[in-house]
Amino acid sequence: MVTLTDIKDKLTEANLKITHQRLVIYEALLKCMNHPTAEYIYDKIKEDNPSVSLGTVHKTLDKFVEVDLAKKVLSTDHLKRFDANISKHNHIYLENSKEIIDYHDEELQQIILDYLKKKKLNNIKIKDVQLQINADKIDKKLSVSIK
Ligand SMILES: [Zn+2]
Repeated sequence: MVTLTDIKDKLTEANLKITHQRLVIYEALLKCMNHPTAEYIYDKIKEDNPSVSLGTVHKTLDKFVEVDLAKKVLSTDHLKRFDANISKHNHIYLENSKEIIDYHDEELQQIILDYLKKKKLNNIKIKDVQLQINADKIDKKLSVSIK
């Protein structure tokens, strides 16, 4: 569980001044595991924080990316989405539900890096690999076979 003190510490470590809007936006981003857009975050916080505008949410999220508190996530839906998890990880993009979920698999990462090393790509030094796996979410209720 992330506490308010943790959030304040993170902002301070990133050399950001602690403001009310930064606190609520960062907290909302940490709680959203689905890699939200600025609009999504705005929807989550606007009721309790009517003074925070959508423009502020956009600017604040971009600031978080600038200071490495968050990452931008590229996805095939062409939406600008954000990730509070700044560690190296893969994403599974669920096309039918438009969710992005984290996928950690160090073995897969190593296999791909080893494979690319063997290929000896000219003038290219591979630093890391991040995958986006496109998939569809399967609704368990629908996949139950009828007897
Ligand atoms: Zn992620």
